[in-house]
Amino acid sequence: RHRPLAGRVAVVSGASSGIGAATAEHLAELGARVALLARRVERLDALAARVDAAGGTALPLAVDVTDEAAVQAAAKRVAAELGDADLVLNNAGVMLPSPVEAVATDVWRRQLDLNAGGVLNVVGAFVPQLLRSVDERGVADLVNVSSVAAFGVFARFAVYSGTKAFVSHMSRNLRAELGPRGVRVTALEPGIVGTELQDHVTDENALEWLASTRSQHEWLVPEDIATTVGFLASLPPRVNLQQLTVLPTGQV
Ligand code: NDP
Repeated sequence: RHRPLAGRVAVVSGASSGIGAATAEHLAELGARVALLARRVERLDALAARVDAAGGTALPLAVDVTDEAAVQAAAKRVAAELGDADLVLNNAGVMLPSPVEAVATDVWRRQLDLNAGGVLNVVGAFVPQLLRSVDERGVADLVNVSSVAAFGVFARFAVYSGTKAFVSHMSRNLRAELGPRGVRVTALEPGIVGTELQDHVTDENALEWLASTRSQHEWLVPEDIATTVGFLASLPPRVNLQQLTVLPTGQV
């Protein structure tokens, strides 16, 4: 079996569904030990059991990534139980489009707190481990999950898109700081992937738009993103895919 990630320690936030769950499982298949972070612990336990049954190692950790202390505590457990993380998929996020005049400050705040604040909590807790891993294992990856929304323009998605623009541009700037120290930083920008992300959308116009794209082209599946992450992490340490847009072939 091809195990290019044997010996590596991966952390996946938002590992209980969608892109995070598929990627965690794939990284484990490629040989990494995986730490699974999300709030729905029964989902994480089920995924960890599947990884174990396939001969891998998984550490499920019930964490709300908007809680800085909880993320720090999770990072301690990862280092103690699996070793320092050398691959972080900073993935937990939520997409809640709404018309600006609804002034839905609660959903603005949820997106900012998770998609920007949660991403920063993960960066803060795990970058020290990534830097140590460069010394220990000669490789480290920080993969921040952004979106085509970071550069695309979609009515009703202003706040979500703003959070993703933050993720993409922060990643480019972090790369300037961490790349020379051996940490590869990637802004991963998927187009539409069929996951639970769409299930949280309540705005009627956004739902209609999503349904129309589904009738126009085949959406990606989470496994498409998982294989992409497995690929970039398997490249020689000198190669950094710094920005990666992954679109459904039919998506404009
Ligand atoms: P899902 O809704 O399936 O996954 C989101 C994950 O984030 C879940 O595991 C969820 O777990 C977790 N999560 C939510 N809130 C928190 C929290 N406070 N603390 C910890 N974990 C949390 O959607 P996707 O897989 O699609 O989304 C993953 C990422 O991909 C997001 O950042 C999204 O913006 C991005 N993306 C998705 C696209 C798509 O079309 N699907 C396109 C482009 C980008 P739990 O509820 O158990 O905590």
